[in-house]
Amino acid sequence: MSEQQICDTNELKWKALVNCDKTFDRDFFYGVITTGVYCRPSCSSRKPNRVNVEFFDTREQAEAQGYRPCKKCRPDENGDNEKGQLLIVTACRRLEHSTSPPTLAELAAEAGMSPHHFHRLFKKTVGITPRNYYAKHRADRLREALVEGSMIGEAIYAAGFESLSGAYNKDQDQFAMSMKAFKNGAEGVVIMYGTASCLLGQVLVAATRKGICMVELGDTPEQLVDKLTERFPHAKVRKGDKDFQTLVEIVITQIENPQSQVVLPLDIQGTVFQQKVWKALRGIEPGITSSYSTIATQIGQPTAVRAVAGACAANKIAVLIPCHRVLTKDNKISGYRWGKERKKLLLDKERK
Ligand SMILES: [Zn+2]
Repeated sequence: MSEQQICDTNELKWKALVNCDKTFDRDFFYGVITTGVYCRPSCSSRKPNRVNVEFFDTREQAEAQGYRPCKKCRPDENGDNEKGQLLIVTACRRLEHSTSPPTLAELAAEAGMSPHHFHRLFKKTVGITPRNYYAKHRADRLREALVEGSMIGEAIYAAGFESLSGAYNKDQDQFAMSMKAFKNGAEGVVIMYGTASCLLGQVLVAATRKGICMVELGDTPEQLVDKLTERFPHAKVRKGDKDFQTLVEIVITQIENPQSQVVLPLDIQGTVFQQKVWKALRGIEPGITSSYSTIATQIGQPTAVRAVAGACAANKIAVLIPCHRVLTKDNKISGYRWGKERKKLLLDKERK
């Protein structure tokens, strides 16, 4: 561009600025030398003197020159402009159809925004973070698939299990490990695991090729992995890959979104009595609570109240076998393997 042309364009920009012309909002920004603030052309703040104005094509250029975004016209946000909204809608469609979660950096790059701005605009527009949006849709899809009844194997496969053999049978929670293998500390059994943080702290999800065998809550990932290896000392314990992490996400969705009930395959080890109790626990809907004596009656052993409490305490699959929904006879929160605080948090969440 010649100097004359630059002058002309700057003249045009100046006119747009003086007229608060919104149609130029996507074309340039202006910085005010005396205040150190940059604005969109349509900003309603008092107009600066022409000599104090610098023009920029992008917000990044303005910020590189040390300008701060104006608090009135928020040139650092894509704001409510249609283009921004459209980009967020595009990102939503992408999240709905992805089989593994795209990173924030990828999503932001596709929308042509910085990760920070993208995250902020997404949350403002959609109401939840991209990560939660993804997890919610993933859980919805899985639930639909499970309702259709056709994709259980695929769902398990997608969640990172090694093979489809022995795919989950809904009516039959089984000993995937033989009782002998289990007593031997799961000798020879491959167990994959993943950890992540959720509202209850850290969560570890471990699974054999048949289903989830442990959901543990705690304060650090290291502590949780220690518990896993203590419980299955002879298993081949391996950290799951990116796909396995999907399964962890689904479990977190269940914790944080109790109404999004997805029936996940479990690989349960316990005595026949414990299995009966755990099955009864799985029948308690979110938002509902039961008592040890009610469960005892339900399984046809009304006098076995203490044994029922024992079976609840022996549960190693937090939340998915919802032992937290069992209260004492007078509706008090009794003990919980993972701490009364967590039990209370879970119940509060489910009551909503
Ligand atoms: Zn402004």
